[in-house]
Amino acid sequence: MTGVGQPPDQDCIFCQIVAGQAPATRIYEDPQTLAFLDLNPINPGHCLVIPKTHHVTLFTLDSATYEAVAATTLKVAQAIQSALQPGGMNIFQANGVVAGQTVFHLHNHLLPRHDNDNLRVEVHGLQPAGVEQLEPIAERIREQLG
Ligand code: 5GP
Ligand code: ZN
Repeated sequence: MTGVGQPPDQDCIFCQIVAGQAPATRIYEDPQTLAFLDLNPINPGHCLVIPKTHHVTLFTLDSATYEAVAATTLKVAQAIQSALQPGGMNIFQANGVVAGQTVFHLHNHLLPRHDNDNLRVEVHGLQPAGVEQLEPIAERIREQLG
């Protein structure tokens, strides 16, 4: 079942997994979402959560689909934590080539973390920005939010 939304993309490996036309180690599914293990895990339990409908990125996603992906991400993250007891976990999503996206069907990575696992995830710079830099950027974004 693919649910309401964009039609499956025949060339998309994740649509093929949803349809059962490509193999995957499935963990959980509901009518809107599917969770399965990443084929190239960074750490054991590295899992992907996807909408069953084909969406390339977050930028055109409807909030109902995003909420379904978020709910499954929460449920599966808690199950991974209970089952495997990693030291921590990153939730990661790449939107666009420059952000590191390689499969163009929206997905959340659930990435269990361990001490000294040699994965560096840095999500901030080294220097604080001044308010004169922050405020014009914030204003441009606020304008889009209405
Ligand atoms: P991205 O780089 O787009 O954020 O992540 C795509 C992820 O999909 C990669 O971590 C890659 O290992 C995984 N992947 C690619 N093809 C397959 C596949 O056929 N099956 C599974 N289970 N994972 C895949
Ligand atoms: Zn797809």
